[in-house]
Order: sequence, then C-alpha cells, then structure tokens
Amino acid sequence: MHANMHIFLYGPPGTGKSTIGNVLAHNLNLPFIDLDSRIETKAKLSISQIMEQDGESSFRDLETSTLKETVESVSSVIALGGGALLRQENLSLAEAHGTVVLLTAELPILMERLKEDSGKRPLLTGDLQEKLTTLLEQRREHYVSFKIHIHLDGMTAEQCATQIQTQLGRFHLSAMREYDVMVGQIAQLASLPYKIQNPVIVTDENVAQFHLEKIGLVLQSSGHEPRFIVVPAGEKYKNLNTVSHLWNAFLQNGLDRKSTVIALGGGVIGDMAGFAASTYMRGIQWISVPTTLLSMVDASLGGKTGFDLPQGKNLIGSFYPPKLVLADPQFLNSLPERELISGMAEVVKHGIISDPGLFELCACGWDWVKSNLEQVVKRAMAVKIKVIEEDPYEKGVRAALNLGHTVGHAVELVSQFKLRHGEAIAIGMVTEARFAERIGIAEPGLSNKIAELLFGYGLPVKIPGNLPREEILRAMRVDKKKDAAKLRFALPATIGKVELVEVTDLESVLEE
Ligand code: NAD
Repeated sequence: MHANMHIFLYGPPGTGKSTIGNVLAHNLNLPFIDLDSRIETKAKLSISQIMEQDGESSFRDLETSTLKETVESVSSVIALGGGALLRQENLSLAEAHGTVVLLTAELPILMERLKEDSGKRPLLTGDLQEKLTTLLEQRREHYVSFKIHIHLDGMTAEQCATQIQTQLGRFHLSAMREYDVMVGQIAQLASLPYKIQNPVIVTDENVAQFHLEKIGLVLQSSGHEPRFIVVPAGEKYKNLNTVSHLWNAFLQNGLDRKSTVIALGGGVIGDMAGFAASTYMRGIQWISVPTTLLSMVDASLGGKTGFDLPQGKNLIGSFYPPKLVLADPQFLNSLPERELISGMAEVVKHGIISDPGLFELCACGWDWVKSNLEQVVKRAMAVKIKVIEEDPYEKGVRAALNLGHTVGHAVELVSQFKLRHGEAIAIGMVTEARFAERIGIAEPGLSNKIAELLFGYGLPVKIPGNLPREEILRAMRVDKKKDAAKLRFALPATIGKVELVEVTDLESVLEE
C-alpha cells in the first residue's frame, strides 16, 4: 500500500473502533495501532490516570505528540480516541497522512457497549446516558464534518470492515497470491512500499496517446527511468505475435528477474502483459493499471492472464496475479462512451450475482452513474474480489462470474467482434435469464427487470437476427469451459443470487 496511507478510525466512544480496526487491519494486511494504548504505554499510566493527574489539556498534548510520531510509521489502521481530532493540528496531521473514516451508531447501541467499561473513560464517569448525550451534542458538528461515515447499527465488525474497504476502494487478496488492489490516483505509483526496478510500461496506441506521458512523469518523479512498449490496440492483436513481441522487447530493454512490468490499458493489455510477465524468466513482477471500466471491475482482478488463438479466445494463459492493481477512475475520462457503457454490463452483472444494492445504483441511470463512477467501480470490484477470494481457481462459486458469458462469448465470436464484449454479455445475460425463468429457476419478471435496466444504457438485449443460431450453438459448445455433452450455466435466480446449472439441451437456451 501507499506509504503513509493510513486509515484513521474515528468517532464517539463505544463505536468499537479497536475491534473494527483489528479486523480491517487483518483484511488489508496492515499493522493495527490503537492510539490510546500508545499514549498509555508512553506515559506508563492509564488514560484515566493521566486525566486525573494532569487534566484533559495535558492529555491532549500527549495525544498530539503521540499522533505526530505515529503518522510517520508505515501505512496502518489507526484507531483514534473519540475526541482526538478536535484539535485542528491533529486533524491536519491525519488528513495529510491518510483518510479518516467516521464510525457512528445510535445512542442505545453506544450505551450498551459502554456500560461495561465507562469507568475507563474519564469523560463519561457518572450518569452515562446524560454524559454521553451531552458529549454527542457538543461534538455533533465536529463529527458530521467528516466525509466518510459508516453507520454501524446491526453490523458485525467484519461487515463494517468490508463496508469501509468498499468505500475506500482498498483490498488485499491472498487466496491465489498476496496482492493489493486499490482505487486511487496514478500519482501513488511514485510512493509504493514495494520495490520497483527497471520499470517498463506496456500499453496500446490509444491509451499511450492520452496517458503515457503522465505515468512516465510519475515514475520519473520517484527516480525511475521508465521504458515504454506500445502495441496496436484491440482484441485482434491479443495473440502470440504480440506476446512474442513483448518478450523480445523485454530482452531488448534489459529486463531481468527483478524488473517490473506495468500494464497500462484495458483487459487486452492486462491479459497480454500479465502473461508475458508470468512467463518471462519464469515470472517477473508486474503491476496492473487498468484504464477501462471493464478492466477495473473485472479483467484486472483474479490473476487470469493470457491471449487468444485463432481457434478461440483466451485459450492460452496462466494464473499470475500482479503485485498491485491500481485503478485510477480519472483514466475513464478519455474512454469512448461505447466502451464505458460496454463496461457497465459487467457492473450490472456483479449486482445480479451478489449485490442488489449495486443493481439498484445501476438502475439510477447513466447520468447518475457517470457522475458517481468511482463509487460504482469500488462496489463492483468488491463483488468480484469476494468471489475470487472464495474460489480463486474456479472450482465452484467463481463460475457465477460467467453469468451471461456462455451465450455472450458465443454471440461475440459469431458477430466477429463487431459487438463489444459488454454488449455481447448484455445479450447473454438477458437470454440466459429468460431461459432461467422458463425452467423455473428465476423468479417471474426477473429477465424483464434485467433487460429494462440494460436497455436503458443503450445496451443490446436480444441476439441480432442476422447471427445464425446454429453458429452460436456451435460456438457455445466450443467454449473452453465445455464439459462433453453438457454445459454449466450460471443462471440468475433473483437479483443477488445465481445458481449453477448443467444444461444438455442447448437449443432451449436460445428459444425466445
Ligand atoms: P481493450 O483492452 O481492448 O480496451 C478497449 C478499447 O479502449 C481499446 O481500443 C483501448 O485502446 C481503448 N482504451 C483503453 N483505455 C482507454 C482510455 N482510458 N482512454 C481511451 N481509450 C482507452 O478491452 P477491454 O474491454 O478493456 O477488455 C477486454 C479484454 O479483457 C478481452 O480480451 C477479455 O478477454 C479480457 N478479459 C479478461 C478477464 C480476466 O479475468 N483476465 C476478464 C474479463 C475480460
């Protein structure tokens, strides 16, 4: 993670900052620091004793000096005392070194949690309800001034940590190999805690035009002399020729086992550069910087790399996650609208798989989504991350991500890629949902609900009449996930739930 990218947990006493902080730190593979414990260790006294002996103002001085030392440590999750940021100096320190997340809860919940140990909280001794109500009243404006709020009521510490991660766009994956995923700014590449040596940036001609200079400057600012490899854009270049060109260019640029490949681009670049890195000198470090919506929410996550053969898509590949995925939503500003909308199909898919709230956000329409892309990206990423952490090698639940893809891939292929990937997946999702409804797996009306939402984005929802059904059926059978006579489909049951079903009668899937 970015050096000094602390996460400060803040909020009224009783919100469980330490419990949640511990879970969050564990999830993100970061150290956890409880500021009050540090103060107590430093003073060799409890907080109550410091307050009693020296008064609140001395305690606050000690809090400031401890915070100053603490922010200099490596990125951590830091639980703060309930009034730690009342001082402007402390607030500025926290904001300069990370993000403050405010935890809130209703009074009865705080009371319940504080009943046990209010004696340890000198500002709350006496009538707990009265003291707490007054304290909350006094700090009301202060607390509401923070941008990121998490309301805890009814949530477990694990759920709360997950919600914080989704809001911040920070994740650590470990099921396949350890790596970080963060939504942030490209400038953060300059101050990563990992060693980057000899970086070479692999990108395509379109992305180079908009973003190559910027990323080059960021790397130069941290003392690197980045080299660039620019390849032609598009799926038709995702082949062995281009991969072989990358291997040769790595050699020409003197890359060794300690060098880092940075893949700057959409799924095509990520898949190919990741594959080239996975095989060059038996595997070198790579970083993924996705620049399309589809690659942010899907292709960059899960460690699948590879390229196409004339016989089919993604037939050669490896599981080889990058060291880091850094998604900067600013990159999406230059992405053609058709590509963005195409990426929305995968976002909607993630909503259907397991996040009804995300599906509802998508239902707010394109104008709303366009102005809130970062939030949507983080939420869609969280869905995929949850699935691939549970099943990194697609032995079970990961197959849910194939929703819409069995028909979608076939339609994409038969259209000779005139349909964008997301457009084909939109058609696939609706076709498969209609089938799921016919065989009684999906609740009635589900396919129309999905179709209306996708159609609202201008995405196609029906197999174009000019695409021969027999060819689509043939392409479905050749899909690399085939299992002899039957195909396994991920079919939607309701928004938020998918079932895996074996189907033998493929024609019935395409019926209208
Ligand atoms: P892409 O990489 O071809 O990008 C789409 C187009 O947008 C290209 O022309 C590209 O040059 C351009 N572009 C990219 N970023 C841009 C930007 N910021 N500004 C302007 N133009 C930009 O396609 P994609 O849709 O990102 O990815 C599709 C590929 O991803 C397919 O090959 C698919 O197989 C693969 N994929 C892989 C996984 C996986 O798990 N590895 C998952 C899903 C899809």
